[in-house]
Amino acid sequence: MPQFPSTSAPPALDFQQVRKTYPGQPQPALHDLTLRVPRGSRMGIIGRSGAGKSTLVRLISGLDHADSGVLFARGEAVHGPQLRAHQARTGLVFQQFNLLAQRTALQNVALPLELRGVPRARRDALAREQLRLVGLEALADRYPAQLSGGQKQRVGIARALVTGPDLLLADEATSALDPETSASILSLLLDIQQERDLTLVIVTHQMEVVRAVTTHVAVLDRGTIVETGETGTVLRAPQHPVTRALLGAHRPQVPLADHETLRHLTLPDLNPDTLAALGRSGARLVQAQAHPQGVDVWLAVSAHLPLHLPGSAPLAVGA
Ligand code: ADP
Repeated sequence: MPQFPSTSAPPALDFQQVRKTYPGQPQPALHDLTLRVPRGSRMGIIGRSGAGKSTLVRLISGLDHADSGVLFARGEAVHGPQLRAHQARTGLVFQQFNLLAQRTALQNVALPLELRGVPRARRDALAREQLRLVGLEALADRYPAQLSGGQKQRVGIARALVTGPDLLLADEATSALDPETSASILSLLLDIQQERDLTLVIVTHQMEVVRAVTTHVAVLDRGTIVETGETGTVLRAPQHPVTRALLGAHRPQVPLADHETLRHLTLPDLNPDTLAALGRSGARLVQAQAHPQGVDVWLAVSAHLPLHLPGSAPLAVGA
């Protein structure tokens, strides 16, 4: 019998009714949290401060456990004897890099292998290979203090990959970096995810991070997922007020006429037909930015006129 890839592979992560309350807190940090992260996807988990992102990261990384409900990883519950196996297959990338100051880049990357007792020659060879992958082979002998923020994060990514994980969890991995460096780190994560066929979970408070790299998004608010779906769909037609607010955070500051309102859309592209349709609808293009899911546009539209654009209904989105 020929072997076909299984289409019913379990999700990389599957949260089922997960609840977590910190001691002494009246409200749970996570409650009724149900979320599936498809294998091989790039899932963005976005939420405002206090939404429960760090708590979620602690559960995925196995540093903490749910009070009730179950987190499954690759089809197996993450607790007891499965916890170590899950941790071994999960790479973590942190906002503050978490590098050891007294170790070189190479020694930092090799650390997870050292902790597993891998002999020195083997671990150094593997660590060097990861540093090459992130473009830092030439800086292998530098100490963290001799590296820029972006370089430190590259070391952090190399360290996360050195044990050959199938799941990479990036916790606000670009929040401490300037926009240009942040873009290059996101592009590196995207390349690595595709090359190694990993599942990438990116936890962030920044919608531009979700937009830049993810295939799926889940919006976390007050400990629960309020909206989830494919990134293109959610950004084109966000259903929940929190999603809209997160999208609206980058609302451009432009003067509007009395009859105009500002609307945000994600279009598949911005071709001559779309531009002509905008003109006919009396809409002014205020800002446009291309990204993998299409083109993110802000329009000043007349409150009196309906807006019809080719191939992009429904358009009722945005702030
Ligand atoms: P985020 O990372 O999205 O800012 P957190 O997961 O840190 O959110 O926090 C979620 C909720 O849990 C908040 O109300 C926060 O105050 C509370 N919380 C987080 N960590 C602790 C803790 N160690 N002890 C008590 N409450 C906590």
